[in-house]
Parts: sequence; structure tokens; C-alpha cells
Amino acid sequence: MERTVRTRETRQRRLVLETLRSTKSHPTAEWIFERVRERMPHISLGTVYRNLNVLRDEGKVRELRVNGRTAHWDGDLSPHGHFVCTECGAIRDVWGLPNHDWKGLKDLVGCEVIRQHCEFYGTCPACLQRERANS
Ligand SMILES: [Zn+2]
Ligand SMILES: [Zn+2]
Repeated sequence: MERTVRTRETRQRRLVLETLRSTKSHPTAEWIFERVRERMPHISLGTVYRNLNVLRDEGKVRELRVNGRTAHWDGDLSPHGHFVCTECGAIRDVWGLPNHDWKGLKDLVGCEVIRQHCEFYGTCPACLQRERANS
């Protein structure tokens, strides 16, 4: 019995992770839930949330708080920043940012830096084009 439960949880977690890794759109838990449900009809939104939190705590996915509110999820752990469009909410990966060595910060302010996240806000190319077309 115990083993069956654990097997099911493992399958659920793997499917949540696979689904997140299959997209570059930095989806919400609801989006992931809709996709996962197609292959696992009895899964609940709460289970998807729980699995995302476990995966985050295990360091397998990244949680992004856009505007400090909505949680979006990223299955790509390689170091990169994010650009958030304030018009349509799209999140794009930003590559090639200069890599700072923050270890010196410990001497400077006495803090130990575990991770750094660079976020930019502005208007994405699609929204810029729409604005230009409307003006
Ligand atoms: Zn946009
Ligand atoms: Zn990303």
C-alpha cells in the first residue's frame, strides 16, 4: 500500500517536471495542471502545487514571482535572467548577462549570497510592434 502511494507520487512528480521542461513559456501552476491532466486525469491542482514546491525545494525547478505576485515556473536551471513584458505578461529568457562574482559581497556587507536573479521589465517586441501599428 505504502509502496503504491509512493509510486504514484513519483509518477506525478516526474510528469509535472517533464511538462515544465517541455516549455520555454515559464508557465503558471494552472497551465501545468491543464497539460498534466491530459495524461493523468485524476490529478488535482493542489497536487500540482505541492509537487512544484517539492521540486523547488529539491532545487530542480525555479519559482519566479512576477511583480512579487503571480508564481511562474522555470524548468531551466542554467544561469539566466528574465524579461517581463508589462503589457502582455510574457516572460522571456535573457542570456549573456555578465557573470558577477558575488563572493566579495560577504566581505562588503557580511551576507552570504546563495543565488542571484536578474529581472527586467518593459515592452516585448510583439507589444512594441502592436503599439507602432496602432499609432
Ligand atoms: Zn508583450
Ligand atoms: Zn527562464
